[in-house]
Amino acid sequence: MSSQIVKQNPFQSMIDRFNIAADILKLNESVRQKLQRPEKQIVVNFSIILDNGTEQNFEGYRVIHNTALGPSKGGIRYDTAVNLDEVKALAAWMTWKSAVTGIPFGGAKGGIICDPRLHSKSELEKITREYTNALSDIFGPDKDVPAPDMGTGPDEMGWLMDEFSLVHGKTIHAVVTGKHLHSGGSLGRVEATGRGVSIISILALQKLKLRPARSTAAIQGFGNVGLHSALFLFEKGLKIVAVSDVSEAFYNPDGINIPELILYYNLNNKSVNGYPNAVAIKHEDLLLLDVDVLIPAAKEDVITAVNAGSIRAKIIVEGANGPVSSDADKILHENNVLVVPDILANAGGVTVSYFEWLQNCLLESWRINQINKRLEDILEKSFESVFAASVKYKVTPRIAAYIIALRKVADSQAVKEIKL
Ligand code: GLU
Repeated sequence: MSSQIVKQNPFQSMIDRFNIAADILKLNESVRQKLQRPEKQIVVNFSIILDNGTEQNFEGYRVIHNTALGPSKGGIRYDTAVNLDEVKALAAWMTWKSAVTGIPFGGAKGGIICDPRLHSKSELEKITREYTNALSDIFGPDKDVPAPDMGTGPDEMGWLMDEFSLVHGKTIHAVVTGKHLHSGGSLGRVEATGRGVSIISILALQKLKLRPARSTAAIQGFGNVGLHSALFLFEKGLKIVAVSDVSEAFYNPDGINIPELILYYNLNNKSVNGYPNAVAIKHEDLLLLDVDVLIPAAKEDVITAVNAGSIRAKIIVEGANGPVSSDADKILHENNVLVVPDILANAGGVTVSYFEWLQNCLLESWRINQINKRLEDILEKSFESVFAASVKYKVTPRIAAYIIALRKVADSQAVKEIKL
């Protein structure tokens, strides 16, 4: 890819990194083809009756990228921008994410083209149940296990579990993770991705010999991931100087009191708009602030060849999936910005999903301390192995993470194929 400025699609970004790692591993063409292409891509169409009595059609997707390491695992996204290429990239990232952290899952992703903010709770329930019905042969505790992603949460996961159980005539908790506790969910799952981002951010600061209590951070996005990342990093003593959501971005050089902001957000219809104790800045300027840690926790492709050269952060920790496009990688590397890739940085979510799935399968319920300790151990070990591979192969942590993941998935795929 040249430095020519073109809009990349996330699947292309995934392939660009994949190819660099595959070249280093000398993977042959047939293995590459198998690992790049999803095993299955399903498009479903269904309709529901809206509260006003009219009928509306929806298109949804589920992409199973790879199952060499175990049942496929990955979230379901409700967003107007959902499209098959995006879901394909997100599904592949789930495969690499589980492989990097050593979780016995493959990768998948789903999505429905809709704006969840424009639907009532009962419409969202109908949408989720119809989608589940359409995919009831695909999902299953040892086949494909969905979870929350952008625009979905414990309510949707509970409806999915209930609908799947109705279709199969028995309660099947382990078909989905990210459920409410009363539907078989796990302690710690809601905050797991943000907790993981904070653990990884501290490890990255330590790599650069920076002290958390003297460090600053800017966080783009105040959904589940951004909010919890901000809270845990605030608790660890970082000064969070900037935060944004879709409505507004703001800055306070003295640091934003995150627990106070969360209170404001909860009372303000889940929006940071109008928060008084900071000054409003342009959304795009948040990414360019001179901070120690920048956490893009909103969506894909926010750091591209267009703005990568102006990034002043020392570390980028990818809270979102795919926030840095592949054409920005080289620029950031040349400018000495340490980028901790999504497939490591935000793996806390799927890690605690794995714990939830295990608890459901074993009919157990674990204590929160046990969950957080296991999460921390897994992320620390994964972080160390990625950084060791980065030294060994003389590549960025992102390519090192891809090398680790591709090696594992390719080896496992090869074992499966010998049997054929
Ligand atoms: N949607 C989350 C992710 O992108 C969680 C997936 C899961 O828990 O399966 O990692």
